[in-house]
Amino acid sequence: MAEIILDQLSKRYGKKHGPCAVKDLSLRIRDREFMVFLGPSGCGKTTTLRMIAGLEEITGGNLTFDGKPINDLPPQARDIAMAFENYALYPTLAVRDNIEFPLKIRRWPHSRIDEKIEWVAGAVQITDILHRRPFELSGGQQQRVSLARAIVREPKAFLFDEPLSHLDMKQRQVMRALIKRIHSQLRKTTVYVTHDQNEAMALADRIAVMHQAELQQVGTPEEVLNNPANAFVAGFIGEPAMNFLDVEVGMKSGRAAWISHAGNRLADLPGALDPACHHLLSAPLQAGIRPHRIEFSETRMRATDLAAEISTYESLGERGILTVRLRSQDLTILTLPEQTFRKAQPLWIHFPPEHLYFFSKDSGKRLHPDPLDRKRTG
Ligand code: ATP
Repeated sequence: MAEIILDQLSKRYGKKHGPCAVKDLSLRIRDREFMVFLGPSGCGKTTTLRMIAGLEEITGGNLTFDGKPINDLPPQARDIAMAFENYALYPTLAVRDNIEFPLKIRRWPHSRIDEKIEWVAGAVQITDILHRRPFELSGGQQQRVSLARAIVREPKAFLFDEPLSHLDMKQRQVMRALIKRIHSQLRKTTVYVTHDQNEAMALADRIAVMHQAELQQVGTPEEVLNNPANAFVAGFIGEPAMNFLDVEVGMKSGRAAWISHAGNRLADLPGALDPACHHLLSAPLQAGIRPHRIEFSETRMRATDLAAEISTYESLGERGILTVRLRSQDLTILTLPEQTFRKAQPLWIHFPPEHLYFFSKDSGKRLHPDPLDRKRTG
């Protein structure tokens, strides 16, 4: 069993009053869970992982492992295995010796070592290269060896820091599937750092989204995609990224009735709004909509359709990405492959109200309760 609890964990490098690399991070990583730390470069993912590993001093808060405080426990006493972005293989040792090394220093008996190496080599598909040395391997093979060395010794938990970052897209997919398979076989608590949302979505039981040293949201891949807690998460997760527009709420007979952008009505708000939302709607607002949810036509279909102009169109084979200009703002729209567009062609844009998200422009927080109060499906 390995439950890892971060309780207001903080890290400051250097000066006492310098900026935090990680700020008051509270998170419960469940036993056997595959937790992914996701966020842009510099948000504090690696620092958090290194604090869990014992490689970085904790400057605030508490870290517990199965209920025991481990803030001051050295890395070797934590029973955690790590695999890094750079493979850190011993260059003079053959693959087999690299994998054996952590077992030998733990004085495992030969028969158990042989059995384990046979298993791990099969699991990560390196049986035929066990005799080679690291310089004789491709990047993908080295990454598999590094993974094998981490998993072979049956630790309580695994920590991975961008372990696939040097691979091309195809190899990453293969390795992702391999990591997922190994996790489902071993069921060990795993913490995995990446800035690649596709990797996070594919691997995670839950994703912890970080930004500027702070945790933004923790949830399943579906939750962070469909129910983002704030505008950062909404904009970071999903490809192409969500579109944002400054909007105002139009009132009729004392109730919110429509949304407008730059003085143009862009969506009617159907039905009665939850009264709990009314005070939120008087604050400066941003509306968000995913690129595949914007509808468009060559002719105007509704009073709320807005005229936009095509800026660029990229055909990506299975789909197209259209950039249009609405007033002074660029919007991204996902299109079907067979659709064709001409630059400067006028287009009428429709924002289906059921696909709009609303955020406070000041705090970025998603309005809660949701003004349209419905089940979200991206
Ligand atoms: P990346 O995806 O680029 O690796 P990250 O999210 O893992 O980024 P961290 O490496 O944890 O981010 O860094 C968080 C912040 O701490 C950054 O501002 C970084 O510059 C700073 N930082 C990291 N290591 C040190 C260090 N040894 N000394 C001072 N500042 C550091």
